[in-house]
Amino acid sequence: MSERKEGVLYVVATPIGNLEDMSARAARTLAEVDAIAAEDTRHTQRLLKHLGVERPLLSLHEHNEAGRVDQLRARLLAGESLALVSDAGTPLISDPGFVLVRELRRAGCRVVPIPGPCALVAALSVAGLPTDRFTFEGFLPAKSAARRRQLEAGASREETRVFYESPHRIRDLLEDVATTLGERRVVLARELTKTFETLLDGSAASLLETIAEDSDQARGEFVVMLAGAPAADTAVDDAEGEALLQALLAEGVGVKSAAGVATRLLGGRRKQWYQLALTLKDAPGEG
Ligand code: SAM
Repeated sequence: MSERKEGVLYVVATPIGNLEDMSARAARTLAEVDAIAAEDTRHTQRLLKHLGVERPLLSLHEHNEAGRVDQLRARLLAGESLALVSDAGTPLISDPGFVLVRELRRAGCRVVPIPGPCALVAALSVAGLPTDRFTFEGFLPAKSAARRRQLEAGASREETRVFYESPHRIRDLLEDVATTLGERRVVLARELTKTFETLLDGSAASLLETIAEDSDQARGEFVVMLAGAPAADTAVDDAEGEALLQALLAEGVGVKSAAGVATRLLGGRRKQWYQLALTLKDAPGEG
């Protein structure tokens, strides 16, 4: 009876700076597969050279990923094994590979992770911010208005928020954080695993000052982490808040503005005050 050998796609994490972070299993996997799909073949070629590995490379980046799927699926179904790597860290994490992995899994192919470096996990592991829950938001929009909207939309989230950012936008991002979130604690993890690895901690405004004094602090790659909003409700006096909202609404102040005033004066969550203001506004008047 002939046995059909099934191909495997190995999703292989590679270093985010320090080549010693390449795991033995990752290196062996790259040496053993029939071909390696890489975000940038020249970049990966340098890694392979360092590892003393010679395997055929093919490009798989955001512009050709969908077009590559049929070809790679056919190779796997024919019994070949392949690896997927990105330029740095874990593929699919703000990197190509999602479409390929989704389609291969739909086709019943085996997809195996070879875990390793990932900038967001490395950054969280040293930031000293809560990690029991966090939100990874990848790269924020390039335009300031959209960026502020997204920052503002998550302002009341209580878990740590994590972003990727490039050096040419780090100042703009910090300015937008200062505008939308004020004194919220920010941890900047720069150049992780590399020579100039730095962790900066403080409000966005204080970090901007640090960068203004030492422009080297704006160079390199960044993971930006924001502390979550303080736990809601705890120290907030609902009765006082209700009286304040009622007074504001009676004066003709809008629901949104009234909620803003209550948040500033009494703390707690803007959303919570907004909901209460809405209820009060809709409640039938006395008499
Ligand atoms: N797939 C990668 C991973 O697993 O982290 C991320 C790729 S994404 C295109 C590149 C971004 O990751 C950079 O702009 C930066 O925000 C972050 N990053 C990558 N390497 C880093 C490092 N050594 N230090 C800090 N941030 C890094």
